[in-house]
Amino acid sequence: MSASATFDTYARAPLAVERGEGAWLIATDGKRYLDFTSGIAVNALGHAHPKLVAALTEQAQKIWHASNAFVIPGQERLAQRLAAVSFADKVFFANSGAEAMEAAIKTARRYHFVNGHPEKNRLITFTGSFHGRTLATLAAAKNPKHTEGFDPLPDGFDQVEFGDLKALMRAIGPETAGIVIEPIQGEGGVRRVPGSVMRELRRICDERGLLFILDEVQTGIGRTGKFFAYEWSGVTPDILAVAKGLGGGFPLGACLATAEAAKGMTSFTHGTTFGGNPLAMAVGNAVLDVVLADGFLDHVQAVGLYLKQKLAGLVDAHRAIVDEVRGEGLLTGLHCLPPNREVLGVMREHGILAVAAGDNVIRILPPLTVTEAEIDEGLQRMEGAFAAMAPVQA
Ligand SMILES: *Cc1c(COP(=O)(O)O)cnc(C)c1O
Repeated sequence: MSASATFDTYARAPLAVERGEGAWLIATDGKRYLDFTSGIAVNALGHAHPKLVAALTEQAQKIWHASNAFVIPGQERLAQRLAAVSFADKVFFANSGAEAMEAAIKTARRYHFVNGHPEKNRLITFTGSFHGRTLATLAAAKNPKHTEGFDPLPDGFDQVEFGDLKALMRAIGPETAGIVIEPIQGEGGVRRVPGSVMRELRRICDERGLLFILDEVQTGIGRTGKFFAYEWSGVTPDILAVAKGLGGGFPLGACLATAEAAKGMTSFTHGTTFGGNPLAMAVGNAVLDVVLADGFLDHVQAVGLYLKQKLAGLVDAHRAIVDEVRGEGLLTGLHCLPPNREVLGVMREHGILAVAAGDNVIRILPPLTVTEAEIDEGLQRMEGAFAAMAPVQA
């Protein structure tokens, strides 16, 4: 047991956070780090964005919480705006990604239930996926590192190998309700689903009467350079979970659905005490004010491309440390040769923070507001870290 009174569930880096300014994180010892974790793709607008600070403090003077027994005007507005920019007609607000996914799973089961097919209650998921740490989302992702010791897990999830469409076809049966996929696996190592596969999955769902469910908890809200990553593929889902970037650092998740897919979610079928509370809604609406403003997503695409080119140069110069650039927009990853956590530790010593992912990848997730100059600074620090790690040439 550690000296901390908190659960020992996290392998925390020896860095205590004090405050943040845009892409910069300042530790309690005064040391400044370039923060390319963005709180794991959460701080979409960086730290302490003036519009978010203003929205939250202004709302804090009015009302914090009232419960979903009443109309929350901020919810009506945010739901309408999310629907207007997406495939969705209906939105359910939650507090986290896992809760948004739980709502997605329940929505899918209820859809078939009210259609007279209660037996269609199984969802197909993929290896390497991550959907959260609740029991149902653990059962969906089936990552043995996350599930060990937590049996019994809820039933209702069938898993196939990521990218194996033949196995997928074999897995579809009379009890299949839908397919759940991340357009880019984040925790799984920044593994992208090709557009052709997204279109094939949509086609299979249409043909077999299945719901196409996307987990965009990490990829949503502009992270890949489109508002939602599915927009790159040209097809739309029936149900989608989003969270991380939506609150810009305030806990906020949402489940979006078409009116048809959401038709089973009638009065009293689902609920949450905190979900969609006025503070969260004020911040979520302020995030959308910025992300949906003219030119913002163009900026994400442009700096994303710039970052990717720079990372490719880093790979060329340090083949013993990293050998592959992955991702889209500002959801990028580098595949490492030494253990990724070792690489991250040396980077931290050089004042640059990034995030570990599966498949021995480090995720480079700058805030969407990052500038080319900040990317230059970050890459210079990474360069310094990689040079320090390189074996001394004879
Ligand atoms: C982070 C994440 C989740 C879980 O979100 P929490 O807010 O931690 O519950 C679910 N799905 C994906 C794709 C994620 O990246």
